[in-house]
Amino acid sequence: MLARSGVVCQIPQWRRDLVGAFTRSSELLDYLGLDSASLPPLANETADFPLLVPRAFATQMRPGDPDDPLLRQVLPLRTELAPQPGFGDDPVGDGAARRAPGLLRKYPGRALLIATSACAVHCRYCFRRHYPYGEATKGRDATSAALASIAEDPSIGEVILSGGDPLLLDERRLTRLVNAIEAIPHVSRLRLHTRVPVVLPTRIDEQLCRLLATTRLRTLVVIQANHARELGEGAQAALAALREARVQLLNQSVLLRGVNDDAGRLTALSEALFESGVLPYYLHLLDRVRGAAHFEVDEGRAVQLLAEVRARLPGYLVPRLVREETGHPSKTLIA
Ligand SMILES: *Cc1c(COP(=O)(O)O)cnc(C)c1O
Ligand code: SF4
Repeated sequence: MLARSGVVCQIPQWRRDLVGAFTRSSELLDYLGLDSASLPPLANETADFPLLVPRAFATQMRPGDPDDPLLRQVLPLRTELAPQPGFGDDPVGDGAARRAPGLLRKYPGRALLIATSACAVHCRYCFRRHYPYGEATKGRDATSAALASIAEDPSIGEVILSGGDPLLLDERRLTRLVNAIEAIPHVSRLRLHTRVPVVLPTRIDEQLCRLLATTRLRTLVVIQANHARELGEGAQAALAALREARVQLLNQSVLLRGVNDDAGRLTALSEALFESGVLPYYLHLLDRVRGAAHFEVDEGRAVQLLAEVRARLPGYLVPRLVREETGHPSKTLIA
């Protein structure tokens, strides 16, 4: 027993990496050798959605560059707090799609489970930044109601774990959840929407890969990278480990002004993804969430960018440009 207790109490490396993440703009800017005077005015108070940047992501930023596209995704600017007409708290109709606490049903055959409210990084453009997570993540009871609802509906063949980031669940809770989904006979696919392989690659550890490799479910992991430089050595190793666990890897990006609204950057992203065995899936037009207006790229320009990308790459490396619209039976294909 004594010998085992050491193992049981061991804090996984990824938890320690998360504790070591940057939580203040000033620390992150110091680390990058940047003076706030070289940046647009920063937000001091974003208490409901503060800066959070793991070091693995910060190491991929370019020191001394105030326009760094990775930095811009995570740095709270004062403009977020200004009134933004047309930008709201529930831009994609999640409220109306709720079927049980933490369970969203928008599209036939698939159910999306908000597994946790926690993320490893706080993305300023996030469409769920104002989501009322409280009820969704109140522990086992909420999850069992969601699972019961899936079990009652034989048309659901795929369960999507989202959040927040489902890979921030600890091993025990994640295993329990996957086992519970496996036990529903009509579910054949398990999909995880996660930014963790990119921003906290140590989370893709042996236990997780074993869990994904041994489930009877076909597994897909949809990562989110918006710029080629996010796929550094750590992310590459994490993705290689997932591939070894026979996980189908896809990527979704958000088209973001100042980050990836450039045909060259989008092309480089697709190529970097393919190097890591990941196929581009969706390129999302920004969801109009309060605080994110400064990232918006208009639709005409987006269509033009995608045409330029299509002229440079094989078809399988061109993501589908989509928008999410409340009440539609699928994402809306734009180009
Ligand atoms: C985006 C989304 C999905 C997944 O849609 P796919 O087109 O299958 O990737 C499923 N459920 C909800 C609620 C979603 O928002
Ligand atoms: S990781 Fe995903 S859910 Fe979390 S803040 Fe970023 S975009 Fe939003």
